[in-house]
Amino acid sequence: MHEISLVRNIFRTLEDEFPTDMGRIRGIYLKAGLLSNVQPILMQNAFAAVLEDEPRYQQTSLHVEVLPILIHCDVCDKTTEVQQYKFVCPCGRPSRNVVQGEELLISKVEFDD
Ligand SMILES: [Zn+2]
Repeated sequence: MHEISLVRNIFRTLEDEFPTDMGRIRGIYLKAGLLSNVQPILMQNAFAAVLEDEPRYQQTSLHVEVLPILIHCDVCDKTTEVQQYKFVCPCGRPSRNVVQGEELLISKVEFDD
């Protein structure tokens, strides 16, 4: 399951970044673009499964915010939210210039005091 390895990678990344603070970690906030193939419910399931193997993180919760897809149109220089996977600017031009929607990133980490 691809989400399990994503969750493990997130923990490994945080362990590298905060080696002495991981005992106090309480919240992990992700931003996932609609095109990143990350589904919040599957991420929560994977997160619960990983916590079973890593009881030291039992008090940590995962928060996933899904970001809409934004495209930029070079003709009218506008950025537009893509609705129903129609990659077309309101001016009528199709655009494949995705400026948001493909990312998966850790936006915030909360620690206990
Ligand atoms: Zn346009």
